[in-house]
Amino acid sequence: MKLFASVATTADGYLDDASDRRLIISSPEDLREVQRLRAEYDAILVGAETVRRDDPSLTLRDAEARARRIARGLPPEPAKVTLTVSGDLDPRARFFTEGSGRKIVLSARPLPALESVAAVIRPDGPITPSVLITELEKQGIERLFVEGGARMLRWLFAADAVDTLRLAVNPALRLDHPCGAPRLDIGTAYRTAPHTEARFGATHVVTYALRPDREAEDRRMLRRAIDASRRCTPSATSYCVGAVVRTAAGDCFEGHTHETSPTRHAEQEAIAKAAAAGADLRGATIWCSMEPCSQRSSEPESCTELILRCGVARVVFACYEPDRFVRCCGAQRLRDRGVDVCAYPTMAAEVLRINGHLFR
Ligand SMILES: [Zn+2]
Repeated sequence: MKLFASVATTADGYLDDASDRRLIISSPEDLREVQRLRAEYDAILVGAETVRRDDPSLTLRDAEARARRIARGLPPEPAKVTLTVSGDLDPRARFFTEGSGRKIVLSARPLPALESVAAVIRPDGPITPSVLITELEKQGIERLFVEGGARMLRWLFAADAVDTLRLAVNPALRLDHPCGAPRLDIGTAYRTAPHTEARFGATHVVTYALRPDREAEDRRMLRRAIDASRRCTPSATSYCVGAVVRTAAGDCFEGHTHETSPTRHAEQEAIAKAAAAGADLRGATIWCSMEPCSQRSSEPESCTELILRCGVARVVFACYEPDRFVRCCGAQRLRDRGVDVCAYPTMAAEVLRINGHLFR
């Protein structure tokens, strides 16, 4: 998933003042630009504190932006996402009552009062940034627009989960240490990232690329993995999957499920070819048409364990494994062990079509 954080601060780094009314920091030109950017995303994320404190509607009012989304086959408005530990969210908040977009709440506890106004997702364990990302990717969300507030930003930056930071500063607005006002508190590492600058009216905007944009290459390599999966002979007991592994030195090895053995998965086939060639897989990237398996009966080691054992640094896939044979937790386990994982759920439909024999 791609995370884009959009933040507006005063010249002295505050996100809001300490009053009950929301402080408008950005110029009208910048607010329009933020609306335009929002329209490019699958979902908008805010913390529950922001829902309680600011009661934002997070709707897409621009008719042209809505029309552009519809023309691209997207819903007219992005989904809205929040997460809560306490469960203290009012179903009458504008977050739930306004706009046509899906509303999604991640919560550690049951929220019966919200079930009629939102999809409530309850992960098995504590909600970490990687759990949030995994759960939202499973909902088909590929691009997430983060609007705050302060705690949400701190939480995501501490986990190094943000790809792009758009920092809009009002150079004329200073609050001079107001008591209790939320302040941007995300460390200073972002300042050394490659960035571009722009002005929207009186607002000064710096956009930092915190992680390299690999989308074009990922889509190209996933296409190759999906093409490899078409060479599989459909089986009633396993998915047709293709995989391409590329070493840090740039050598590629490709495989598909059952290519050389009736029990081998695509990842094993590709990694076995790399091993036969004497390649070092530490720091490698693997592109798979489907999420690497986390549990299996026909062989002792899952593809997730194999990928971890080989020291592969990055795992990219198109489709989360459906809950047909087992409940797969490959992506989450890889993330928990520090592997960089990225899913492209908009490419999943083709993978499911290739595996249509299992869903008839
Ligand atoms: Zn596997």
